[in-house]
Amino acid sequence: MVTRQVEGAELEVIIADITTLGVDTIVNAANTSLLGGGGVDGAIHRAAGPELVAECRMLHGCKTGDAKITGGYRLKAAHVIHTVGPVWKDGTLSEDDLLASCYRRSMELCGKHELTSVAFPAISTGVYRFPADRAADIAVRTVIEGLSVAPSVARVIFCCFSEPSAKLHAEALARHGSPC
Ligand code: ADP
Repeated sequence: MVTRQVEGAELEVIIADITTLGVDTIVNAANTSLLGGGGVDGAIHRAAGPELVAECRMLHGCKTGDAKITGGYRLKAAHVIHTVGPVWKDGTLSEDDLLASCYRRSMELCGKHELTSVAFPAISTGVYRFPADRAADIAVRTVIEGLSVAPSVARVIFCCFSEPSAKLHAEALARHGSPC
């Protein structure tokens, strides 16, 4: 839908079901238990199969703003990075910083595991109610900053699930990236 080149990496905004993407890793908007939930988390666990929750059980949860990596099992993606976004309250509970931390920690894991392609959903913008425009800006800005800690990453996909979400990410990409 929209593509920009930043520091040698291609950043794309698409509308798709993230479970269908053939990338090195998809990112899951998980909860602190890492044992599955609704929304994108439920879709990823359903598509990956029961082996995913079995591996997640061994991770003993994840703090808000942090991220952990597992295999992708029956997904096309080889890995899943599970990150826990903040629940939006009123913006005074470090929600912005915690959301940025999700993207930063995910990019750090991509760098550590030398992954080349990663797809992110719009973390926290579903049942966690983070304002979608504010979240899109944080997502794009933090991923661009994170390219410096993930030099292996050549392709980043912002995998949106609706037209309005994709528009917000495309606008953020236009603000923060240079045209391809
Ligand atoms: P959170 O609890 O972090 O808010 P949700 O799963 O409720 O997580 O929503 C996060 C975002 O993921 C929302 O924008 C939602 O529309 C989107 N989403 C839901 N299912 C999928 C999917 N299969 N692929 C990509 N994005 C999805």
